[in-house]
Amino acid sequence: MIEYHDSELDTQKRPIRNIVATIPGTIHPEKKIVLTAHYDSVIPPGAEDNGSGVAVLLEIARILKEERIPLEYTVEIVFFDYEEKDLNGSQAYVRHALINKDEIIGVINFDMVGWDGGDGKLELITAKISASFLEEGVLFVSKIAGREDFVYPIIEDIENLVGHGDYSSFLGWGIDLENKEGLDMSRGYYYVINVTAAQKLEKGYPYYHTVEDTIEKLNIDFLRQVTQWAAEVVYGLANSSDF
Ligand SMILES: [Zn+2]
Repeated sequence: MIEYHDSELDTQKRPIRNIVATIPGTIHPEKKIVLTAHYDSVIPPGAEDNGSGVAVLLEIARILKEERIPLEYTVEIVFFDYEEKDLNGSQAYVRHALINKDEIIGVINFDMVGWDGGDGKLELITAKISASFLEEGVLFVSKIAGREDFVYPIIEDIENLVGHGDYSSFLGWGIDLENKEGLDMSRGYYYVINVTAAQKLEKGYPYYHTVEDTIEKLNIDFLRQVTQWAAEVVYGLANSSDF
């Protein structure tokens, strides 16, 4: 099932369209694993930022549907609008999810995953508050899949993450993105991991936010490995009775 979630944030009055594809779980349909990627870009073509993340999610959606992979939990695949404008798309999604009391087991966000800077490593970034989802969920499943050497976990203080991507919207809706104050977790947060290839390990993608961000710059073999890893993680998480 594919739906458009149209909304606008009270403060901005900007129309926002998130695109949501849902594959219902067979045993616990009310609980969901959420995969996300923003589909807007600062300037076209935005191959790495964030055509790469969108490509991974489209391929996972295709695999789950065509192969009829059994899933105990619901898998929701969300394409966010307006990441590049104050994270408006993900802010709208999280606000709605909190009001709705959505049972989200965990969120995996894909942002810039097709350029690895030559080291072949995928970075998994989260905050301390969300570390158990990384360690007992995603890393555990990666190990079972024999892919623990492919990923590099990074656990940060939440103050260092706020405002740096859609994943940070899940660490607490309504956080002041400018001065990073008001980290009021009583408003709710979700377990979330940011998957990226070139943000923290001192690899800067040289074509970031330029017209030079074209598809030839991407390492397609690496992008394929990211997609295979992600498919294994989604399968493992969506069929784990631990949650
Ligand atoms: Zn991005």
